[in-house]
Amino acid sequence: MAAFRLKALGAVATATGASWAALTLLSTPASAGDREALALEDARRRVADPTAAVPPREIQEAALMGASATSPLDVLVIGGGATGCGVALDAASRGLRVGLVERDDFSSGSSSRSTKLIHGGVRYLEKAVFNLDYGQLKLVFHALKERKQVIENAPHLCHALPCMTPCFDWLEVVYYWAGLKLYDLVAGRRMLHLSRYYSSDESIELFPTLARKGHNRSLKGTVVYYDGQMNDSRLNIGLACTAALLGASVLNHAEVISLIMDASNERVIGARVRNNLSGKEFDTYAKVTVNAAGPFCDSVRRMANKNALNMICPSSGVHIVLPDYYSPEGMGLIVPKTKDGRVVFMLPWLGRTVAGTTDSSTVITMLPEPREDEIQFILDAICDYLNVQVRRSDVLSAWSGIRPLAMDPSAKNTESISRDHVVHEDHPGLITITGGKWTTYRSMAEDAVDAAIRSGQLTPSSGCVTEQLHIVGGDGWEPASFTILAQRFTRRKKSYRGKIVPGLMDSSISKHLSHAYGTMAEKVAGIAQNENLGKKLAHGYPFLEAEVAYCARHEYCESAIDFIARRSRLAFLDTDAARRALPLVIDILSSEHKWDKTRKKLELQKSIEFLETFKSSKNAQFNDGKLTGTSTTWAST
Ligand SMILES: Cc1cc2nc3c(=O)[nH]c(=O)nc-3n(C[C@H](O)[C@H](O)[C@H](O)COP(=O)(O)OP(=O)(O)OC[C@H]3O[C@@H](n4cnc5c(N)ncnc54)[C@H](O)[C@@H]3O)c2cc1C
Repeated sequence: MAAFRLKALGAVATATGASWAALTLLSTPASAGDREALALEDARRRVADPTAAVPPREIQEAALMGASATSPLDVLVIGGGATGCGVALDAASRGLRVGLVERDDFSSGSSSRSTKLIHGGVRYLEKAVFNLDYGQLKLVFHALKERKQVIENAPHLCHALPCMTPCFDWLEVVYYWAGLKLYDLVAGRRMLHLSRYYSSDESIELFPTLARKGHNRSLKGTVVYYDGQMNDSRLNIGLACTAALLGASVLNHAEVISLIMDASNERVIGARVRNNLSGKEFDTYAKVTVNAAGPFCDSVRRMANKNALNMICPSSGVHIVLPDYYSPEGMGLIVPKTKDGRVVFMLPWLGRTVAGTTDSSTVITMLPEPREDEIQFILDAICDYLNVQVRRSDVLSAWSGIRPLAMDPSAKNTESISRDHVVHEDHPGLITITGGKWTTYRSMAEDAVDAAIRSGQLTPSSGCVTEQLHIVGGDGWEPASFTILAQRFTRRKKSYRGKIVPGLMDSSISKHLSHAYGTMAEKVAGIAQNENLGKKLAHGYPFLEAEVAYCARHEYCESAIDFIARRSRLAFLDTDAARRALPLVIDILSSEHKWDKTRKKLELQKSIEFLETFKSSKNAQFNDGKLTGTSTTWAST
């Protein structure tokens, strides 16, 4: 009986934890520091609670609809990329009433199409030194600080990655060694690991496919330095879900189609939103609207002022994915200057190799596609540094992304494109946050929320606490957490004859689940074990059926594309494998979301069209002759 009472008391205490913290905040005249400590403790408890779940989509939509002119949200965020979700999380953790709408899926824009590096920007350091440019040096300091923070707050999704720079004469060795030592020095206590020189023999041992000769010069050695690497879209989904756990009403597949202005003073006071899944439109109101629409932020600004000048200077970057054997598991290769002066890199990522190069100017489109000459350029450039041939037919996937480089409209020199971010209120009530990079999303969000507080005279319960706030799944996660999954769980699956058979939760699967979902991986493994959803979705990849069900229930996964592109990364890793996984993915989503036959057919058709924008060797117009006859477009059955 006493035990029961204690348990009940515990439950009540937990349930009222949030309100108690809020009450404490209100009733005690605490200092700013005390308020932040309390807010952080409260946020941490809510995010780390293993029984907590994000509110269903319907509740989120109803909350947005319920925000009226007389009872508005504090902040409405437009855009669910890294920046927008970072803003929603920052504002919600300061106790503000927040809504976020994303017209496609969280991370469907640039934020799932990055190089996946969390970096300080070695190249900006070079510019800082050679141009004696303090602005560039400040950028590097800032990014290095944020790099450490991102890795600490989402340790399951981010890690330090050694990157090798090959040197073909002794002058290069000295130049890169000195430069990268300076990078270490600037990072100071935020350094991940010390950079160092390796002889050519040691380098080949570490990176067996590295060429000993390049352009008639022999390899003199390599300099290895460290930056961070992430699973970008999963981190983005983590930000959206963490914000939702802290009370933000986040809604994907919901597009702002116009802004609502106060007739008396022209201030932006809300937005008209269309639910792109149901077609339903509604109004939502907010004291301040934050425009985080990335490359599309000028189109949102023009909803308020059709004469607004462009802030965005779009630049596109292409990546290709190759089999794992081109690069060793824990080592990247970065060539800062190829023969035509571009950067080229090959990085291990989720069991495959990502290769790419720097940007070229582009136009803004929703689904950018890599051009064949861009893919060929990357293949040619990396071939120069490898002792094996890299063939077009090896390309498993290829994608393009648009970088929202920003010009500050309030800067004196409007020609200058900044690698820094810009926060700008060019219309009352509408704050645009853009530019910057993935690495700095957290501080970009902090600056945008500070600006929103000033603009809307908002009264947050505390200052910014996101520096020390883990993303959902990150609190309590350890690199060895995967062993618990392997020890405790089996994955039960239906055999081809419909019989239930047990399967092993081997280390490749348990490592994948542990990294992708952090401490939430046990929930996914539980579904695999208890609901007979333990089959792999595609041969050669660790993604399980259970993940589809988990993502539909806990991560707002509303379509097959949401799953293959942003929840799992199959579309990015291997478009053919993603295509093969589609029937299973659609079946599971259909039973989670109660889809009819027409919707299932539509999902398949849309997914195939989407995959055609990823130019693997299978769907490219080109191949190297080995696979003649395979460059067909997929039939939509
Ligand atoms: C090729 C490439 C490589 C990169 N590599 C790196 C890297 O390695 N490291 C790094 O730190 N950074 C990198 N970046 C930069 C980084 O990816 C971007 O700075 C960052 O993702 C921008 O995020 P965002 O949220 O501002 O934009 P986005 O991710 O594009 O998000 C904007 C969102 O707004 C939505 N939206 C637009 N209009 C509306 C509307 N009317 N209503 C509702 N929603 C709307 C869009 O659908 C979109 O999802 C790279 C960028 C590119 C292109």
